[in-house]
Amino acid sequence: MPARLPVVRVKPGRDRSLRQRHPWLFSGAIGSVEGAPASGATVEIRAADGEPLALAAWSPSSQIRARVWSFAPASIDASFFATCIRRAVAARTGLQDVGHTGVRLVHGESDALPGVIADRYGDVVVVQLLSAGAEAWRDAIVDALAAATSARAIVERSDADVRALEGLAPRVAIVRGTLPEPVVFRERGIEYLVDVLHGQKTGFYLDQRDNRRIVGDRARGRQVLNAFCYTGGFTLACLAQNAARVVSVDSSAPALELARASLARNATLDASRAEWIEADVFAELRRLRDAGASFDLIVLDPPKFAPTAQHAARAARAYKDINLWALRLLAPGGHLATFSCSGGIDVALFRKIVAGAALDARVDASVVGHFAASADHPVALSFPEGEYLKGLLIRKT
Ligand code: SAH
Repeated sequence: MPARLPVVRVKPGRDRSLRQRHPWLFSGAIGSVEGAPASGATVEIRAADGEPLALAAWSPSSQIRARVWSFAPASIDASFFATCIRRAVAARTGLQDVGHTGVRLVHGESDALPGVIADRYGDVVVVQLLSAGAEAWRDAIVDALAAATSARAIVERSDADVRALEGLAPRVAIVRGTLPEPVVFRERGIEYLVDVLHGQKTGFYLDQRDNRRIVGDRARGRQVLNAFCYTGGFTLACLAQNAARVVSVDSSAPALELARASLARNATLDASRAEWIEADVFAELRRLRDAGASFDLIVLDPPKFAPTAQHAARAARAYKDINLWALRLLAPGGHLATFSCSGGIDVALFRKIVAGAALDARVDASVVGHFAASADHPVALSFPEGEYLKGLLIRKT
């Protein structure tokens, strides 16, 4: 028999979201806690009347005080994680079959593994452990990923800022095997280089895979601007579809260097059609406008300006500014693929911001498409927070 777990009782009337299978318990909804569970320890969550609701990981320093591992009775142990991870990896099989060797294997809460992210780039798996519970089960999670993938190397990139909210220090390490040099994955016939040790997040934006295809398919013969290009995901996708020219802008010199190296590696792509500019996008859009530049296709994929709803007002000004200048730079009949990965801004608000930008730019434009994260980044119906990436395809009249 496993030892009895510490019981966390929810305040009367505060059990609704758990009953709807939302996996977070906020500190304000807690009535009582038995003892002082350690960081990451498994606790049993009960309703005020004692009815068992879930088994969860305790996060003593976070406002999200507990994250649910299971709503059904279960033993939370190494084999529990092996099963969950095997299931998550199996759900991606179809994607790997169509020649993409970069895939998100585990997508946190939406794969019933709060705080656990794992991305695969060819033979390499990169894992992020972002919550106290994920940290406590680190060895079991890494072992399970190794068993489910037979990866040549597993890299831990537990250096995201959110770890601080959980009271966890950053950690970056090669935790299994040896890292191939360089790390490469394939997508639609393109080879992309990934800096898994120093790049952003796990090294690449796999969530934009479908959108790279949609944007790339509009690039033939076009003058393209890729703002916030990072390591050139959209740039290479556009060149592969025969864009006339792609101007790519980012403020990160290492990201641009890797983008250039990725392009050089793909012998079929014409590197002379690519121009890389290391600059602040806010200033560069104005400079391009002053220089009389014009583009048929513009991609705007900025960093998260609003991590939560509290940052929304300031973020809205930033989104409006870049969209306004992009709309001015667009030739009539041209397309703007504009994104927001801010959790604090939903698609309705984002559309309003872009509409405001068009109004101020004195541009008539329509929404001709919507973007979301690729299917390997699922959004559990009980976890709407999982829907962070949204985008609009805009056509300028
Ligand atoms: N579109 C990219 C991902 C963009 S991530 C892709 O598909 O891979 C956001 C990028 O914006 C990062 O590369 C970061 O270096 C860059 N960045 C952040 N602030 C910036 C600014 N003010 N000007 C230019 N680049 C910026």
